[in-house]
Amino acid sequence: MTKKERAAHVLERLNQLYPEPAVPLDHTDTYTLLIAVLLSAQCTDKRVNLTTPFLFSKASTPRDMLKLSIEEIQSIIRPCGLSPQKAKAISGLSRILVEKYAGGVPRTLEELEELPGVGHKTAQVVMAQAYGVPSFPVDTHIHRLAHRWGLSDGRSVEQTERDLKSTFPESTWNKLHLQIIYYGREHCTARGCDGTVCEICTTLFPRRRLPIKKASHPTKVVKRNAQTGKIARKTSKKS
Ligand code: SF4
Repeated sequence: MTKKERAAHVLERLNQLYPEPAVPLDHTDTYTLLIAVLLSAQCTDKRVNLTTPFLFSKASTPRDMLKLSIEEIQSIIRPCGLSPQKAKAISGLSRILVEKYAGGVPRTLEELEELPGVGHKTAQVVMAQAYGVPSFPVDTHIHRLAHRWGLSDGRSVEQTERDLKSTFPESTWNKLHLQIIYYGREHCTARGCDGTVCEICTTLFPRRRLPIKKASHPTKVVKRNAQTGKIARKTSKKS
């Protein structure tokens, strides 16, 4: 299969599995989405969704957030981790939204990325999920699966983002990034896989006969081509 054929199969399967993937972070508007995405850094969406109801009951607008001290915000969001940095960022960006954007959330990637605590991925999630602008926010799930499916060999999420954007039609990006995340969480987890256990890989790599992981022999490291399963390099060394 060519990369284009692999991409088409992935798209078809994910559309069958997740025809209408829900945005996993609970929110009521663009501001609460922005805060939820910021909180999701190094944290699960589930935990964020358990934390934000109380935070948003206290403050669901930038103006109300400024009525809370950084210490108060920090104590509420502590379960999400990195609470000192995140509380400072939430307070800081809320002040900028009030002073520079009349309490609204800017609509460009560049303006979003200038806000404290808002990186490229967070800004792209807001562009995609709040404003419907075609974006491909790449997280660790998407980075991992793009590699496993032979859609990117990028070493960084930035390179993977470029590869995926050039591989899939722009009209698919906003749904596809969610579909890949769901598949990664449910089937293709970070714990590792030998590349033979589910339909996607067996279809993408029909000539793969052997697991792609290293052999179980304790003194041998066998590297196999990720796509064909053929031995690419063989060494004998104690690990
Ligand atoms: S076979 Fe393994 S690596 Fe391939 S999609 Fe399934 S879980 Fe992921």
